[in-house]
Amino acid sequence: MTKKILITKSAGFCFGVKRAIAIAVETAGKGEAEDGKEGPIQSLGPIIHNPQAVERLQEKGVGVVESVDEIACGKVIIPSHGVTRSDRSALEGKGVTIVDATCPFVTKAQEHAKALSRDGYAIVVVGEPDHPEVKSIISYIEKGVPVFTTVAEVSAAKGVRKAGIVVQTTQTFDNLMSFVAAAMRRFPEVRVFNTICNATTLRQQESTGLAGLADVMFVLGGYNSANTRRLAEICKAINSRTYHIETERELSPSMIEGASVAGVTAGASTPPWIIAGVLDRLKEFWKCDRIEVSFYR
Ligand code: SF4
Repeated sequence: MTKKILITKSAGFCFGVKRAIAIAVETAGKGEAEDGKEGPIQSLGPIIHNPQAVERLQEKGVGVVESVDEIACGKVIIPSHGVTRSDRSALEGKGVTIVDATCPFVTKAQEHAKALSRDGYAIVVVGEPDHPEVKSIISYIEKGVPVFTTVAEVSAAKGVRKAGIVVQTTQTFDNLMSFVAAAMRRFPEVRVFNTICNATTLRQQESTGLAGLADVMFVLGGYNSANTRRLAEICKAINSRTYHIETERELSPSMIEGASVAGVTAGASTPPWIIAGVLDRLKEFWKCDRIEVSFYR
């Protein structure tokens, strides 16, 4: 019997992640003291949210530090999801070489938050408050401006006449709309900047479509990757046989027992070699004559 593996066309690295990795590799290739400044090459937090990809970058000489306090000299790479305004200022104060790999779409969200707050709008940030990207967006809001990050906060807000909404780039459109609805009930004036990136929307659309027709669905990516976790959530809501895994080592034959069609999708920070490893392992488990592998879009 023929078995099928369908992979979403958009699975894996997005534009911003490819760009951040290319910047990191190029920086590592130039070496530590190419510009006359001694010191290590480090990223402030992981460059992307995928432990295996970060490990490979470490092998190339790009270390990771968790706070500005750990940095004394050398080159510092700003990750794809950005850093806070205060961290950037602190780095500038230390005189280290800053290599900015912030995704331009994240920069756009930061700029909207800054401009809206300067124009007197309270700011609603749709996203995970503890995620580095959301922290970076919030840090660009002018001091003293009210900031809301939950629907409950928006619904309970008092004394606000106008509010601007910006979104973490990897959020779902449905979540944005629940904030928009709450804001429009509460505030006389609402401005919305849909800063969800197209790569995220496309990936979510393809993944939900595939989850609906596959017997079993695999979502590949770091457990620390917000966009991968969200993909797993939306696929799970459609297909209860959804597994979020980081690498092929987590696969077991029981996961595909009785299945004829396996769907595979991956977060924006999942490297191609991880996807290839999972496909190989699935083929190994399905010991049958015919296995078709094709893209789904
Ligand atoms: S998901 Fe979108 S916003 Fe985030 S890094 Fe990729 S391209 Fe940039």
